[in-house]
Amino acid sequence: MFPCIFHGTGAGNVFAKMKLPKPTKPRFLDTVAEENGVAVVVLDKEGQEVFTANNNSICSLLYSSPRTSADCAEYCGRAFERTESSDDPVVYECHAGLTCHAVPVEDRGSRFVAIVGRTFVRSSRYREATEKAISGEWSVFPPTEFFGNVLFSGSSDPIKKAVAKLERFAPKDKEASPEPAEEKAAGTTDEVKGPSVRDMASEQPDAGTITELIDKFNREAANRPSVPAPSEQQLKRRPEEISAMRSLMGQLMRMDHQEAATAILAHLSRFYGAASATWLESRDGVFASVSGTGELAEKQVRADLRGLRNIAESDAEHVLELNPKSSAGKQGVSGPLLFFPVVIGGEIKAAVGIHGTGEAELDRAAITRFVRAVGPKMEILRLREIVSARDSLARNLKEFNESLQRIDSADFWNQITRVSAGLLGAERASILVKDEDTGTLSARAFIGAPIDITRVEDVGARIAKKAFDGGEPLVVTDIGLSRYGRAPDERRYRTGSFLSFPISIGDRNLAVLNFTDRVGGPAFGEGDVELLKAIAPQLAVALDRKALKIRAGELEKRSITDSLTGLMNRGYIEERLVEEMNSASRHRFPVCLLMIDVDNFKQYNDTYGHPAGDTALVLVASVLKDTLRAADVAARYGGEEFAVLLPQTGVEEGKAIAERLRQRIERTEFPKRRVTISIGLAAYSNEFAEPKDWITAADMALYEAKGLGRNIVQNYEDLGRSFKEKIH
Ligand code: GH3
Ligand code: MG
Ligand code: MG
Repeated sequence: MFPCIFHGTGAGNVFAKMKLPKPTKPRFLDTVAEENGVAVVVLDKEGQEVFTANNNSICSLLYSSPRTSADCAEYCGRAFERTESSDDPVVYECHAGLTCHAVPVEDRGSRFVAIVGRTFVRSSRYREATEKAISGEWSVFPPTEFFGNVLFSGSSDPIKKAVAKLERFAPKDKEASPEPAEEKAAGTTDEVKGPSVRDMASEQPDAGTITELIDKFNREAANRPSVPAPSEQQLKRRPEEISAMRSLMGQLMRMDHQEAATAILAHLSRFYGAASATWLESRDGVFASVSGTGELAEKQVRADLRGLRNIAESDAEHVLELNPKSSAGKQGVSGPLLFFPVVIGGEIKAAVGIHGTGEAELDRAAITRFVRAVGPKMEILRLREIVSARDSLARNLKEFNESLQRIDSADFWNQITRVSAGLLGAERASILVKDEDTGTLSARAFIGAPIDITRVEDVGARIAKKAFDGGEPLVVTDIGLSRYGRAPDERRYRTGSFLSFPISIGDRNLAVLNFTDRVGGPAFGEGDVELLKAIAPQLAVALDRKALKIRAGELEKRSITDSLTGLMNRGYIEERLVEEMNSASRHRFPVCLLMIDVDNFKQYNDTYGHPAGDTALVLVASVLKDTLRAADVAARYGGEEFAVLLPQTGVEEGKAIAERLRQRIERTEFPKRRVTISIGLAAYSNEFAEPKDWITAADMALYEAKGLGRNIVQNYEDLGRSFKEKIH
């Protein structure tokens, strides 16, 4: 019987199976996919997934998401039509950077396309994809789903092997290629872009980082035969190991990165004779241990393995031997420290360092296989950790923002400086803020020793000033090598790396944050600038609000009230007039202004003396205040003149209030003699372009009141044309 592509035995019709609520697992494709560490996905001519095996989690998300499915449609979506129109295998690298081989397949008379691969072959593509997932356009996808099953292969070989397995399902009217996708792929237009895996492997490691050891290692690796078959003794211990391995693989993805490293090392001790072992991760080109067992548990192992980074995965085992002096003669430990690299996407991401016990030689081939099996899972866990570190950074930033809200706190400047220094790991930081009046920078807070902005010879101050003036962040990696040169007092700084970051709103530079003395860490760099860029907008707003508050506080100190009468002063009411005009014209609220002048007051002063005059003015003010409503604003406009603002008050109501004021004064008993006032009223109308027009109108009505004999209320609207024309 001709085998069915979707089942090892060929039993059953694929479409019949598809209609079942739970389709039977397609064993054949699973086996092909898993054996080769690739995805095998079968699509129909519409691009619909018929079956998937070991699918890349990136593809599962991108193919089904409305954001990205159109991009996928250009690649896997067109694979069917391309395989139908091409006699050569269709090989492509998709928008996500995954390498796929597409081959036509036939099952029970129907044609499909099998996409094989969906793996990262090139490290650069893998890096780009993870960057997008961590902080770019794909960061919308939940990281646990995105990194659920990411596939890597150091070369196209596993893809080609899987393709070969599908050969027998090639459509009968097409000639089956004896070596699918082998050398033919190179000549086709659908060839993978960029350097081939072979090119990558032959690239020279960076000058300066290559060591004799690595040369030796490469030579040995090249001469070493393929992983040998397990020995009889190894086969005996296999059942127990296989079940432990299965359980470890099942549990790894539920652990965090550190726990997983520890579990892997424990497995190495138990089944591979490791006396001590360490898991090393690449950080800035240096491998540093994240977990260790035995003697290596206590050690901070660091190794520069950068020269190895271009070694792609192959069947040969890669082991680097080092003979560290420190381990010589230690009890229970013998032989060299062996490093097994974890190669992901053609790049060494991690390494396992192992010491044997000396009882039996370490089974390098078996350890290589084991490390290769757990490597991709550890990489996924590492990526998850980066994502969660980003989340915790986001949480820290949220707290930072909350501290920005507390601009009234006396500790505001210190707090910002302290929190931002903490974010950057700097022991010394300062914030210099621009003085609004003088335009000069002055320091508001320091962490560590202060910098003196006024001293030109202070190198930190010069960097801060340059960053502030230029409006761009400034990073100095090593002051000794920079054009800032050595300064006499440079020794006051503990490290040679400086970072100054200006804070601005639009073109307005507000302040500059300065950091140095990151003791025990790398020099400041792009990452730190990016971090500050993330917090800069909120910081700028907080600084601006703080500056405004300070100015408001100063204004508040200058009195807005009149010292004699306790009413508001002229400045205040003039500001209120602007606000009232704006809101009146926007919301069409009525609002009235009264200008009030005491009648014949010169004579009162002349007769009873100035102090008696003052007493009378205080009494007038208190009558006004008592008669008015809470929302009305009474101000001493100058001398014996008062202004009253009546918000939300129409002209009739305004007249009534003015009349009440006039009567209350008339009836109030003054110490010396009867006192009266004249009042001019002007309701706001949009004929007033600015507050002074409005005041002039009320003043004209007041002048008319005086002319009509005093002690009366006059309304601007009732004036004759000759009066009104004066405004314009
Ligand atoms: P009219 O009815 O036309 O307003 O007559 P008037 O005498 O009140 O004239 P005018 O408003 O021009 O005079 C203002 C006088 O008010 C001048 C001054 O003697 C008096 N005055 C102004 N400010 C003060 C003040 O702060 N204290 C005292 N005691 N008198 C003041
Ligand atoms: Mg007057
Ligand atoms: Mg007067």
